Amino acid sequence: MSPKSAAVAKLARRLIARLPLPIATPVELHRAWGRPLEKPLAARRAVVVGTDTEAAASLSDALRAAGASVYDTAQDSGCDIALVAVDAQTGVDALVQWGRQFGAALRGVANHGRIIIVVRASGPSVVTDAIHGFVRSLGREVGRRAITVHAVLAPAPQAAGSLVVFLASERAGFLSGQTIALRDGPVPAIEPKHPQVAVVTGAARGIGASIARALAHAQYRVVIADVASQADAAKRLIDEMGGEAAGMMFQPCDVRDEQASVAMLEKARSLSPSGCIDVLVNNAGITRDRTFGRMADGEWTDVLEVNLASVVNLTRTALSRLCDGARIVNVSSVTGFSGNFGQTNYAMAKGGLIGFTRTMVPELEPRQITMTAVAPGLIETAMTAKVPLLNREIAKQMTSLAQAGQPEDVAMTVEFLARRDAWPLRGQIVRVDGGMFFGA
Ligand code: NAD
Repeated sequence: MSPKSAAVAKLARRLIARLPLPIATPVELHRAWGRPLEKPLAARRAVVVGTDTEAAASLSDALRAAGASVYDTAQDSGCDIALVAVDAQTGVDALVQWGRQFGAALRGVANHGRIIIVVRASGPSVVTDAIHGFVRSLGREVGRRAITVHAVLAPAPQAAGSLVVFLASERAGFLSGQTIALRDGPVPAIEPKHPQVAVVTGAARGIGASIARALAHAQYRVVIADVASQADAAKRLIDEMGGEAAGMMFQPCDVRDEQASVAMLEKARSLSPSGCIDVLVNNAGITRDRTFGRMADGEWTDVLEVNLASVVNLTRTALSRLCDGARIVNVSSVTGFSGNFGQTNYAMAKGGLIGFTRTMVPELEPRQITMTAVAPGLIETAMTAKVPLLNREIAKQMTSLAQAGQPEDVAMTVEFLARRDAWPLRGQIVRVDGGMFFGA
């Protein structure tokens, strides 16, 4: 956010707080957006409890390795992270005892803290769905204190370590109220050659530019693939990050144009010491909002072409140029789950991306490639600046954290999903939406 918009937002928050209305004023989130830190949880106090003692032990180790101090009982002085580890097979008895057993740890979490429930589970069950309901509800209650709440379902909870550390970190301050299901299997031992190369479509501005920055901070060479008319914006971004010498370059590419896409992917490959692309982020997207009854043909086809068909086509073209062990991250939208008035075209395209992400898993697994997606809620960019002010304010009130996200919030999640140890998340759609109340 620019200093001017930040000042306006601050003033607006102060004025809103004085109004005699049941409007929640958002707490400024603690965020860390620069280079990934070696000890992202330094100085954090974590309380790890639960009936799955094996999971609790391995997740305590992961938290400790990330710099946290770990305790196995609730502390009188509270904590920053409360982690509960349970096994879904223990059945509903564990839920009956839930409040008595874990209440002290969960209620002791300080403002800006994290609550993470890790469930040993191989699929949906009474316990997993019950915990999902708990997480969604608790997230709403504590979100006004900038506390976030998640459930992680995992057949082997020791594989949840890197996700738990990410969710507990200040890179995940805008994620809340979701259940993330991990897949089984050890992280493949394919080591990438450095520097790795990432392609980000639609990266000249907005969320794409933030993703490009985040990947550059994480030492990737980044190809900014955007339409030719965005060349100036791309150049400003490259200059800001230290010029082409810092490993960033612009390649004009309309993602609807197959020839331009091939040229862009070949350029990216040529930057890589291994001759292949490590990360593809399908971010380019547009809106052409209108009710279905009034929508012009062009408004329909443009949105479906850019937001869905181009992602499928570009991914297909990229496959032979991706490294084994590569990561593909699609930028979908919460609208793909929830739908939205005046966005039948956009919701169909973004919903299609969710299906694409889930169904590609078996095809990509033999090459240890993952496809995941992020589903942003309301994020402050040029795209959403077009949404009427009142609608934006209502959308903010419909989140646990009572605010919109920043492009960097999405970028931090994409950078995490691009890591090799995000392997268990393949096929997952991670919402970056401040705990939005709607959308299953
Ligand atoms: P934006 O309009 O600020 O940026 C979109 C970028 O995509 C621009 O640089 C644009 O030039 C580029 N682009 C558009 N058409 C292209 C094409 N045919 N080929 C190549 N590049 C093209 O939008 P944003 O808010 O940064 O959105 C980025 C992505 O996030 C989109 O897919 C959008 O649908 C999704 N998203 C945004 C929000 C939000 O609240 N901003 C919420 C959910 C999802």
